[in-house]
Amino acid sequence: MTASASGAPAAAHFRFFVLEVLRTRRLGHSFLRVTFGGESLADFRSGGFDQSLSLFLPPAHREHTELPSTDEDSWFGAWRAMPDEERPVMRSYTVREQRRTEAGAVEVDIDFVLHGAAGTAGPSGPEGPAAQWAGRAVTGRRILAIGPAVAENKSVRFQPPADADAILMYADETALPAAAAILDRLAAGTRVQAWFEVPHPGDRLDLTTLAEADITWIVREDTPGAQRTGRVLDALRSARLPAAGAPYAWIAGEAGTVRAVRRHLVGERGVDRRAVRFTGYWRLGASEEQLLAEAYAGRAPSEDPASEL
Ligand SMILES: Cc1cc2nc3c(=O)[nH]c(=O)nc-3n(C[C@H](O)[C@H](O)[C@H](O)COP(=O)(O)OP(=O)(O)OC[C@H]3O[C@@H](n4cnc5c(N)ncnc54)[C@H](O)[C@@H]3O)c2cc1C
Repeated sequence: MTASASGAPAAAHFRFFVLEVLRTRRLGHSFLRVTFGGESLADFRSGGFDQSLSLFLPPAHREHTELPSTDEDSWFGAWRAMPDEERPVMRSYTVREQRRTEAGAVEVDIDFVLHGAAGTAGPSGPEGPAAQWAGRAVTGRRILAIGPAVAENKSVRFQPPADADAILMYADETALPAAAAILDRLAAGTRVQAWFEVPHPGDRLDLTTLAEADITWIVREDTPGAQRTGRVLDALRSARLPAAGAPYAWIAGEAGTVRAVRRHLVGERGVDRRAVRFTGYWRLGASEEQLLAEAYAGRAPSEDPASEL
């Protein structure tokens, strides 16, 4: 629990959930959808759009995820103190969809990019533990997640101001589930211009939206790592942006490309920097542990990056 401004206790926005694999489905060349269920999901409250959550995935020799504590105040220290070979990996993912079945059960879809798997290997090397786990996921496996217990929470980053008159979007494959969930929710007639970068032609997923969306697919195929950002910028530079007085931009994907796209929109296209939401979802050559370690190194000891989950 956290204290509200009035001093009254406010419900915690996030808590642990047990996610049990119900089924998997290949969506495209690089995407695998894992559908989760489980009784604890009755209290799960996705805010939609780009709602993210933190998954805890077991080491390869374990079937299910176990943590010594899921208590709000002590789990982080207990998790960090686990021996390396037993510690579940923590990774950020997107709630692609939450729904209720006819029988009343809650299901949650998460779309995993199988980066580095056979046939999808990229310039960044072999797949990481999360992609590996998804590739092996079978019905009945249980993992843990810190996810939303209230729909209005700070892990929904897509927050266009009320006066936004056009939406600009860039997403690579890791942010395509979030972009697809955003498009699902946009009102009819919303003007959207989007650039979606994927590794393979078979990753151009069918997207549904009521918005007036102009989508450009950028298929990377064998583009070397150093040139991938340049290709994205070429596509942006050659585009006419919608004539809009107050565009809102949402940018997510590989950190270096995300920075370059933001610079382009703010510096070359005059988009108000306060109307740009940009998030590095991963970084070429760095695992999520390395990114978390950097986040720690840049903070005062009293600040806890995990508190932002
Ligand atoms: C808010 C948020 C939401 C996200 N949502 C999703 C989602 O819905 N689906 C999804 O698939 N990912 C999503 N991601 C990205 C995902 O967390 C990272 O790709 C993560 O690094 C995957 O973990 P891993 O264990 O497979 O690889 P890691 O162990 O973290 O990394 C191993 C190596 O693989 C590289 N790498 C990591 N991801 C990729 C990739 N996609 N392509 C090529 N190389 C890669 C790293 O640079 C590193 O060299 C999200 C990230 C954030 C921050």
